[in-house]
Amino acid sequence: MSEQKMMKASVMTTLGHFDMKEVPIPKPGAHDVLVKMKHVGICGSDVHYYQHGKIGDFVVTGPIILGHECAGEIVELGSGVGEKWGLNVGDQVCLEPGYGCGRCELCRTGKYNLCEDMIFMATPPYDGALQEYVCYPLECVFKLPKNMSTRDGALMEPLSVGMHACQVAEASIGKSAVILGAGPIGLVTLLCLKARGVSHIYVTDLVQQRLDTSLRLGATAVINAKENVMEEINKLTNGKGADMVFETAGSTITTQLTPDLVKKGGIILLVGMPPDGRCNFNMSRLIGKEAQIRTVFRYRHCYPLALNAIEAGLIKLDELRSLITHSFKFETECTEAFVTSRDDKVNVIKAMIEM
Ligand SMILES: [Zn+2]
Ligand SMILES: [Zn+2]
Repeated sequence: MSEQKMMKASVMTTLGHFDMKEVPIPKPGAHDVLVKMKHVGICGSDVHYYQHGKIGDFVVTGPIILGHECAGEIVELGSGVGEKWGLNVGDQVCLEPGYGCGRCELCRTGKYNLCEDMIFMATPPYDGALQEYVCYPLECVFKLPKNMSTRDGALMEPLSVGMHACQVAEASIGKSAVILGAGPIGLVTLLCLKARGVSHIYVTDLVQQRLDTSLRLGATAVINAKENVMEEINKLTNGKGADMVFETAGSTITTQLTPDLVKKGGIILLVGMPPDGRCNFNMSRLIGKEAQIRTVFRYRHCYPLALNAIEAGLIKLDELRSLITHSFKFETECTEAFVTSRDDKVNVIKAMIEM
């Protein structure tokens, strides 16, 4: 029997505590690819699990490896990964961090992101990417275009959220939009709206640095959320409101504000999730406007589109890259990375762990 090769994994053994463990390197099954992780971005959800141990119904009950925004290099192919898949040892790839059962109605109608049995990285009970090697099904593995590094590749996950939101909101040329919340998801939504030709994009946030970033990335105007946002949006839209309103802050207050900002006949797109999952909508305002509320849960079929959009320059790589504000080393700085992400919301947009 050959000796099992080992790797390092950063395991959250108890709430808010990481242990660097030696664990066996997984063996790829027939249709899997073994990827040496190079970059893992820290998501708001990772920080939430680190801090609170749960998000809604997902509760951490044992040791877990966090991280789901990841990219790396293929080091081994499963026996069934034939030539037609275009994946080879040495390829730089990003991983779409979840897959459905493939058998249920939702999977078979293409809505795999809603599968009851979704296996998603760093969502209890499933482990994530903060380990040296990850074995993953070939259909979730996407080769990066030549102009992209694995550091860029790790940003495809949040970008896909923005791509999906903009598709569902039917964002198109010449329309107007409000983005409530200029965190990473609000900012990638801004980049996707620009790429789709949305001409007037207004961004709100409480943090001035984030508003400055929004302006740099092409927002038409920004509003500090301490102001009367409804009044300001009315001024900017001649009292009409915006065609689309994206809630990306995940706050009850901004969610409740959406009916006041949307144009008659417009679309409200809920991306963030209010902390206790509930909010009070002004239904008479909504109905009087014949406005639609739409929601998105993660994304589906967005990775190839996101990669194409970047390769073609529709989404500017330097703008996307600029969202990475902090970098940390995997072996020694996991705790620092999470603590900084948790405590410095003013300066951290996206923290990246270098593997
Ligand atoms: Zn994420
Ligand atoms: Zn399914």
